[in-house]
Amino acid sequence: MRDVRTDFPLLRRQPDGKRIVYLDSAATALKPQTVVDAVSHFYTSQTAAVHRAVHRLAEEATEAYENARVRIAHFFHVAPQEVVFTRGATSAINLVRRGFPHLRRTAATAMEHHSNLLPWAFHDGGTIIAVDAEGNVDLRQLDEALERGLELLALTHLSNVLGCQPDVAEIVARAHAAGAMVLLDAAQSAAHMPVQPRKLDVDFMTVSGHKMLGPSGVGLLYGKAELLDRMQPDQLGGHIVDQVHLSGYELQKPPHRFEAGTPPIEGVLGWGAGVDYLEDLGMEQVALHQQDLVRYAHERLQRIPHVRIVGPSDPAHRQALLSFNVDGLEAHGVARMLSQRFNV
Ligand code: PMP
Repeated sequence: MRDVRTDFPLLRRQPDGKRIVYLDSAATALKPQTVVDAVSHFYTSQTAAVHRAVHRLAEEATEAYENARVRIAHFFHVAPQEVVFTRGATSAINLVRRGFPHLRRTAATAMEHHSNLLPWAFHDGGTIIAVDAEGNVDLRQLDEALERGLELLALTHLSNVLGCQPDVAEIVARAHAAGAMVLLDAAQSAAHMPVQPRKLDVDFMTVSGHKMLGPSGVGLLYGKAELLDRMQPDQLGGHIVDQVHLSGYELQKPPHRFEAGTPPIEGVLGWGAGVDYLEDLGMEQVALHQQDLVRYAHERLQRIPHVRIVGPSDPAHRQALLSFNVDGLEAHGVARMLSQRFNV
């Protein structure tokens, strides 16, 4: 089997003579050398703003930037025009929130990340749909919200708290039958398994590039073309307009309409290299490997007295991440101790 560790230069560090055990890829991923090289190449050979100028460097940078969009779109089996680059999953979610300012009846499940909870749950008309300890979404509560005219449901594809995946097909079918849109937060899933928003028939999907081996400060919003056409830009500025007259302006088509100002060019180029790296490993392989790891971690952790695993009791219902508490100890204290003593 390929030695993936050697592709990640940071893992050569050995603080206090012990190797680093990195178990925080739910927060952000380490970067393989190819991603570092892609970012470095932009700075050493290609620096220019994209979509602005016609000189050689600007044309090369623009071509590389748009080419990364094509590869990233291909990775998710969607069209490049359906991929809007953002600062991350949080900005992608907020782009939809501000893109449809009139949406009132919105809901999020109780296992959403704060980024996908705050924009949808706490205003007048916002609701939280309950989830049980095994990670099952309360379908009765969902149906009640749909009967009351729910317009958008915010749903995680893989919970960063419980490590479980909801039954997206069932939930999307119920939502669509009642005329509600579904926004799928794939921030946790996209680096660990094949993810196809069209197959899942979700209306929007949000992704963190930095959790998929890319640099910080990059992510995307996928939206069905007809919905992106109806969405308002959240920011006005350079590049989003086709024509500006003294009397007004005409907006560009999506996705450019939503990318005001100079974008995180090196972030997108680095992420493109990260996606190439994942394609090369093969997402089916990545999925099988992380399932092996999570099963192993579950099996070993449950043997340790006083450790309580959070989320699905059957590791087969869990993907990629595992949270636990230690009786009588505060979580930050456990994390700090594991770091200081074992470089975890
Ligand atoms: N959703 C989930 C499920 C997440 O885990 C995270 C990041 N921890 C986010 C959204 C926010 O992503 P970003 O950092 O790209 O804004």
